Amino acid sequence: MSSKFLKSLFLSAVLFASPAFAAGLKVVTTTEDLASLAREIGGDKITVVALAKGYQDPHFVDPKPSFIFEVSRADMLIVVGRELEIGWLPPLINSSRNAKIQVGGSGYLDASLTVKILEIPTGQVTREMGDVHPQGNPHYWLDPGNGRRIALAIKDKLTQLDPADKATFDARYADFDKRLADAEKRWDAMMAPYKGTKIVTYHRSWPNFMDRFGLNVMGYVEPKPGIPPSPSHTIDLINGMKAQGVKLIVVEPYFDLKTPQAIATQTGGTVLVLAPSVGGTKEATDFIKLFDYNVGTVAAALKKITGK
Ligand SMILES: [Zn+2]
Repeated sequence: MSSKFLKSLFLSAVLFASPAFAAGLKVVTTTEDLASLAREIGGDKITVVALAKGYQDPHFVDPKPSFIFEVSRADMLIVVGRELEIGWLPPLINSSRNAKIQVGGSGYLDASLTVKILEIPTGQVTREMGDVHPQGNPHYWLDPGNGRRIALAIKDKLTQLDPADKATFDARYADFDKRLADAEKRWDAMMAPYKGTKIVTYHRSWPNFMDRFGLNVMGYVEPKPGIPPSPSHTIDLINGMKAQGVKLIVVEPYFDLKTPQAIATQTGGTVLVLAPSVGGTKEATDFIKLFDYNVGTVAAALKKITGK
């Protein structure tokens, strides 16, 4: 290799590393929800890449080769945590050889640490039981209040990594907080007539959502989180739904509709596919629109079912 070539290589490395050429902090998130919240706070001070798509089951993501590339050059990695990504993320973090985003590194943010977590097991839970929620429910972003808490944690972490832009992050957080509070008033009004209505969901993705909007989850199509439906569990569920007059079955977009539809036929119920994440449906393009879609869809279905 000629010294001239080495010199030009060195120069271009210096140029690319200089602040004038940097497009701000590179943020990688495991899900599109976290990416949306990061964009709300970071604006044009950061670039954001989400690894999993919102229409994929976040427990079981097939890592693409590009994932390692993205993680290796990230300044910040935001994860859902509570073992949601345990099946696919740890090898990516390892192979990235990026010290900044290792667990406990300066750019690592576990979004679950400052939010409200439901269904924290009280007894001893092992993965041998097949339960993919051993550390409490990891689908906690489906409560707008938790979205606000995640946004605040992102603001604090971005400010640590880029103190010069603190004023921008503060202002963007305040603006998001206000827009979210306005939207919550709208959603509360839409859901008010249906308080206490019992529903069924496929996976335990929705406890935070249902709690927040006053619905009661009577049962699940899955016998346990991550375990596919079994005939005996389905019969028990159908009997329970008939006894309690439960008519709404909420399904995530990545599950087979066959069992939910059979249950609906037996119970005179309705199957409703909701978006568990930003990107889970074409309407859910950001965190607030995710709730616009889900609240609007549930309220319309319950209006039909209950006549209220
Ligand atoms: Zn889950």
